[in-house]
Amino acid sequence: MTPEEIKAYCEQNGVRFVDVKFVDLFGQWQHITRPIRELNDWTDYNRSPWRNGYGFDGSSIRGFQKIEESDMLLIPDPETAFIDPFIETPTLSVIANVEDPVTRQPYSRDARYIARKAEQYLRETGVGDTVYIGPELEFFIFDEVRFSNQMHTASYLVDSDEGIWNSNAEATLRGDLNQGYRPRVKGGYFPVAPHDSQTDIRNEMVEVMEECGIQVELHHHEVATAGQGEIDMRFDTLTRMGDKALLYKYIVKNVARRNGKVATFMPKPLYGDNGSGMHTHLSIWKNGVNLFAGEEYAGISKLCKHYIAGLIRHGRALMAIAAPTTNSYKRLVPGYEAPVNLVYSARNRSAACRIPLVSPDPRQKRVEFRPPDPSGNPYLTFAAILMAGLDGIINEWDPGEPLDKINLFDLSPEELANIPTVAQSLDGSLRALEEDHEFLLKGGVFTEDVLETWIAYKYENEVDPIRMRPHPYEFELYFDA
Ligand code: GLU
Ligand code: MG
Ligand code: MG
Repeated sequence: MTPEEIKAYCEQNGVRFVDVKFVDLFGQWQHITRPIRELNDWTDYNRSPWRNGYGFDGSSIRGFQKIEESDMLLIPDPETAFIDPFIETPTLSVIANVEDPVTRQPYSRDARYIARKAEQYLRETGVGDTVYIGPELEFFIFDEVRFSNQMHTASYLVDSDEGIWNSNAEATLRGDLNQGYRPRVKGGYFPVAPHDSQTDIRNEMVEVMEECGIQVELHHHEVATAGQGEIDMRFDTLTRMGDKALLYKYIVKNVARRNGKVATFMPKPLYGDNGSGMHTHLSIWKNGVNLFAGEEYAGISKLCKHYIAGLIRHGRALMAIAAPTTNSYKRLVPGYEAPVNLVYSARNRSAACRIPLVSPDPRQKRVEFRPPDPSGNPYLTFAAILMAGLDGIINEWDPGEPLDKINLFDLSPEELANIPTVAQSLDGSLRALEEDHEFLLKGGVFTEDVLETWIAYKYENEVDPIRMRPHPYEFELYFDA
């Protein structure tokens, strides 16, 4: 909507507040709320908040400014406006870009700006003019009342053994003590009710998403025993898809909440069962033509093979942004459809890059990158994937043979060891990023400052506190040592 349209809409519909949302460096939406009148009460547009923004203190926002330079501006983007479905007073929500109030330049640690720069860089390279992203965010819905005090117990149970213990713990989490109609471990994909008891809550999520401007293609229960879901959005351009991924998480969590449940996007809440990924489909276009369609393997182009080679070559470093929590690496283990091998294939779901065998329509051709998960900052994840792929395209790298052409049984252990994999820990990925990040700095998309801030925060707040804390399962193993 344009500011004029928004003004008219607000007047006709009695909208009383504007909720201005923006993202911190690590992917969490933040907001301030103001009476709507300032936003709409202008005759000189250049003096309106659409141009001059709203001031806020950036010093308490994760990953933002130090205290002595804390004043920042939020510049709302009218194209992102929607009516907030979770605030009772009629409220317009709008996503903002962050600016420095002195220079009036976009703020370099605003992830939305990094996403916009990535799209700009794509155009500057001349490779393409548009990038489409389709992410598949998976999540779990648990019973709220029992969640907090039983999660701990449950992690004991699921840690102790697999199978029946896992199902019981899972059922406990859902608040469901019934032993019947329960999908088995990895049996959630996707028997009808009464096994799947979450169709209605996912329907409700979808309806709210569509009211907020997210076009949804389908939803379904996911593979994990019970309570894991996925709702698939229609693809969009990179920055807009970053907006939508955050809106999606906002809606999933808040619809769960109003149903007395909690939803979590943590990558691996349950030991011994599938975790939650954010497979990211991407294609690059120029003048309305999909550059990924061609005559090579599985109907892809040479350019698309170079893109894949970029993802493979930079894959380990990429994970520091695309799978950026210590918990991410509990998901990235063999056996749970979350790939660890940095290879490509049309069919093999253990390959990091998959070329979905969709319709023969070349517009559908795309690469699905499977290692990312939804615990990060979607703007940064999408931007980093694009940058890795573009590096492959610009350097015309060759991704080698697809995995399905290699017979794994014919390979010696030494040859198997040559298949590149993602790191086994966040620590490993952060180290990889320290060594390999030139590709992210191209075109000024990511800055050294952003990467240093990211790495330091991750060590200080996540890697080190987890490393130094006794784990519940260590008591099981060592208490009686
Ligand atoms: N849940 C799996 C993962 O962690 C993916 C399942 C699927 O193929 O959709 O990536
Ligand atoms: Mg899935
Ligand atoms: Mg997928």
